[in-house]
Amino acid sequence: MDKEILDRMTMALMGASPTDDEMMASLDNQPVVQILPDANVVKVGGQSFIDRGRAAVFPLIEEIVENLPRHKMIIGTGAGTRARHAYSVGLDLGMPTGVLSVLGFFVSIQNAKMIHYLLAKHGIPSIEPAQFAQLPLYLAERQACVSVGMPPYAYWQPNPAIGRIPPHRTDTGCYLISEVLGARSMIFVKDEDGLYTADPKKDRNARFIPKITVEELEQLDLADVVLERSVFELMKTAKHRRSVQIINGLKKGNLTRALNGEPVGTIISA
Ligand code: ADP
Ligand code: MG
Repeated sequence: MDKEILDRMTMALMGASPTDDEMMASLDNQPVVQILPDANVVKVGGQSFIDRGRAAVFPLIEEIVENLPRHKMIIGTGAGTRARHAYSVGLDLGMPTGVLSVLGFFVSIQNAKMIHYLLAKHGIPSIEPAQFAQLPLYLAERQACVSVGMPPYAYWQPNPAIGRIPPHRTDTGCYLISEVLGARSMIFVKDEDGLYTADPKKDRNARFIPKITVEELEQLDLADVVLERSVFELMKTAKHRRSVQIINGLKKGNLTRALNGEPVGTIISA
């Protein structure tokens, strides 16, 4: 862009209100840089995966290590059952959403620590939000890095439309990392093959959905879904990461296939 257009944009922005939609749209006229286009964000579920212990976690760690020569990975961690316990005690004690969000963050950190120590002998580091700027170095040096999955909204976490549980949890935190970095993929590792028409743990007639758009998913109006609903909301306005993949990490080889770009599991796109 030449200097004249840039000056005009600056003048327009200084004169306009940031709530002037038309003006804001006209200012968004350059492509957003993909900061880490080779990085794959891999979220390892809390309740659905890490809480299953070594039977689930060890083979996945092995598969992550096998893929280090070929794929860069940012490994985010869920929170799971311990967070749900903290949320229920917190709810009973009258804690607001922002405080529950702080509690959930620490459980996600616990899981990040354990995944980190399992990968430590391969030289894989782990980061908390304050160290986010070190990610490029770690990926360049070691191919992977473990990160806490919970977004650091803490006390600033907005209330959900219904209830009091933080609406932006670890699916959302990992998704937002993939979006802001312009990452190559967003892979959610869970304990089911992907999205079904109902929770397959509760409904034996649930049908598997290999591919769906956010709009189609909204029309289906499912009672329960495999990802936090805020991920779907955020996907609609994403600049980069407009599709996500959910895979069953209990089946060896699925992570490798997803990293290789194969359509294993469910792909949800906006
Ligand atoms: P995580 O531990 O990654 O946060 P969750 O346990 O919160 O994962 O979510 C994954 C779980 O969601 C699955 O194990 C599955 O039992 C449940 N689930 C609910 N609704 C659906 C659905 N429509 N399709 C697939 N799984 C579903
Ligand atoms: Mg969850």
